Amino acid sequence: MEKFFGKSIYQAVAIGKIAFSSKEKQQVRRTKVEDTAAEIERFENAKAEALSQLGALYEKALKEVGEDNAAIFEVHQMMLEDDDFNDGIKSKIETQQVNSEYAVALTGDTMAEMFENMEDEYFKARAADIKDISERLINVLTGNGGLDSLSEPSIIVAEDLAPSETIQLDKSKLLAFVTELGSSNSHTAILARTMNLPALIGVKIDREWNDKTGIVDGYKGLVIIDPDEETLEEYRAIQKSDAEKKELLKTLRGKETVSKSGKKINLYANIGKPADLASVIENDAEGIGLFRSEFLYLGSSDFPTEEEQFAAYKKVAEIMGRRRVIIRTLDLGADKQVDYFNLGHEDNPAMGYRAIRICLDRTDIFKTQLRAILRASAFGNISIMYPMIISVDEVKKIKEIVEGVKAELRAENVKFNEDIEQGIMIETPASVIMSDELAENVDFFSIGTNDLTQYTLAIDRQNSKLDGINDSHHPAVLRSIKKVIENAHKAGIWAGICGELGADTTLTQTFLDYGIDELSVSPSFVLPVRKAVINAD
Ligand code: PEP
Ligand code: MG
Repeated sequence: MEKFFGKSIYQAVAIGKIAFSSKEKQQVRRTKVEDTAAEIERFENAKAEALSQLGALYEKALKEVGEDNAAIFEVHQMMLEDDDFNDGIKSKIETQQVNSEYAVALTGDTMAEMFENMEDEYFKARAADIKDISERLINVLTGNGGLDSLSEPSIIVAEDLAPSETIQLDKSKLLAFVTELGSSNSHTAILARTMNLPALIGVKIDREWNDKTGIVDGYKGLVIIDPDEETLEEYRAIQKSDAEKKELLKTLRGKETVSKSGKKINLYANIGKPADLASVIENDAEGIGLFRSEFLYLGSSDFPTEEEQFAAYKKVAEIMGRRRVIIRTLDLGADKQVDYFNLGHEDNPAMGYRAIRICLDRTDIFKTQLRAILRASAFGNISIMYPMIISVDEVKKIKEIVEGVKAELRAENVKFNEDIEQGIMIETPASVIMSDELAENVDFFSIGTNDLTQYTLAIDRQNSKLDGINDSHHPAVLRSIKKVIENAHKAGIWAGICGELGADTTLTQTFLDYGIDELSVSPSFVLPVRKAVINAD
């Protein structure tokens, strides 16, 4: 039994098998095989497993991101069955008496090179697919679990996980995350919280842990490898008591979120995709205060169409009924990268081409999203929120575009809510300073304390080395929040917090003293925050 420490980002306990995910290209060793027939059978079995993984991925993508985006997994299945590819591998095993991994790597490299040298752009692009299927086969052969091939609920151990990878994981197969890199305010950490999964960062990981039993203790920031029976018993007891506490919190379901002095708070939840709604309902959130719409883009291999987005927004609006759903427009860039946007390298991506800056530049992408949101507004209580605002001028430009889209829809006789509320995120020092004027131009403010802390303190939220001083309790952040709420109220609009700080129950009383109107938190924090509000003055 061994113990390793890290920093916890969600307090819970997980017990289960470890799946080590490596992004490094596998080093394939050549070994001599005596029984080539048995080796060919080994290859055939791995191929069957890879085909079944691709079939499952196709079905998942079909449900979540539509047929066009799912098609790639069908293409990969066809390539795996390709005669030239298969014959190449089998003949190498037979004639050179080599192991399957080596035969696959050699055949894959040769074919990829052949495609790369072709003139036709379509065939050139197939080189990446060949590499992808070879890698998948090698992963199956070596037992190196790719994250989409988990056969049972597992603790994911990885050097790092990008938000785009995390969003594609099958939640039913996840028990916990343990990573070496990452920081507590990163979007991957936020996703772990949304999924209620214990997660540790900053752990010195080891690939030898693969397939071993592990315990992740999100209370102590500890991962235990190969625990003994006594330790397992101890942690099973903690899991049981956690479940009991959770049940107790559920007695707060259906209760109003009102402080002792009678201040009513709108207690909403943050989500990234329609599937998060189950947890929103279970935890009795009074609305959605932040729908991070970019996760629809991150979970997709191409721009989500207006119809795909409309379907997602409509579903959320319909399920939430009369309760408010605040859809934040695309906030890509910085740590949230998608290949098909081709955002390119930037020296300072957090301060770069991101969020509303992309939308005001690529108005085609922005208008598609606005059309989808406005159309969905006919089916529930939807508001729109814009991220990373720094000036009144931006708000005016946005409103002009929105008016244009509304006019288009009117001309097409498409129903939408003419009076849809439009708010902005306050997450830059500029927007704090300008909050008096901004408040005159929007319907609400939602304070994004994750970015506001990053930009106010000049501390990269992705940099785990700075986690120790990345302090959202810094007086500069708290004073900013106070000022923003005051300026909102002067202009007669409401103000809330949708950054992670909103869930910090040590500050609930402070926020109430400032006059906060709304708090939007990860679903699992809704009931603990309700409890804190009810117990506050
Ligand atoms: C924030 O910055 O606080 C916020 C809620 O937005 P995100 O975490 O998605 O950047
Ligand atoms: Mg932000």
